[in-house]
Amino acid sequence: MYSFFIFSLAVITNDTFHIGPKRLFDFFVNNDIKTFDFLPQEPIFSNTGEQLTSYLYPTENYVKFVNELFDIWFERDDPNIHILLFKDILRTILGHSSKICQIGQGICANVTFTLYPNGSIYPCDKFPRTGNTIVSESEIANINNIKSISGIFAAEGYRRLLQKQIESLKVCLSCKWYDKCKGGCAYDRYLLNSKTTNPAECSNYKIYEHIYNKIKDQLET
Ligand code: SF4
Repeated sequence: MYSFFIFSLAVITNDTFHIGPKRLFDFFVNNDIKTFDFLPQEPIFSNTGEQLTSYLYPTENYVKFVNELFDIWFERDDPNIHILLFKDILRTILGHSSKICQIGQGICANVTFTLYPNGSIYPCDKFPRTGNTIVSESEIANINNIKSISGIFAAEGYRRLLQKQIESLKVCLSCKWYDKCKGGCAYDRYLLNSKTTNPAECSNYKIYEHIYNKIKDQLET
């Protein structure tokens, strides 16, 4: 007799907004999937850079969905149900480090690499799927041109990407949640930077605010 640990990751799309957070939550829990997480659908670009699908991050619909899902999870108050983003936001609010890259890390250029069949090494696979400028500049190196793993860190592409990820923290440095969130996902931050310079318009900001307001009475007792 084998037992399996099942973890699910849902991609939130416009269709998910129609389904609503309660049905998503009930679907997982009723199917005995009690550890899950979710990510916003990223925009898709054609090879010529034409944007084919809309941004979900940072949008009001996305924030509303996430905050309602948090409320459902919080009010259920079942320690056997784990939604990783919420657990790690709570961890950071309580002063601990995050274990997921969506928050609390900020820079992923030095820890996440994706190897493609042609030998190209990119950061997280969110990046090369699209055709915009940031993405086409995000190739770190080609495996045929380096002699060892440490060659990645000496590559010009690596230095360029690291520099870009650091520069993209600009909007975050004035954010009241920076010491917890650390800039969120680097790719989502590029999307944020392309839309605003105001941290208060960031999805993560609004999610942190919502969660903090929900639990602050308990923190103060
Ligand atoms: S602006 Fe958003 S991504 Fe940046 S630190 Fe603040 S909450 Fe995080």
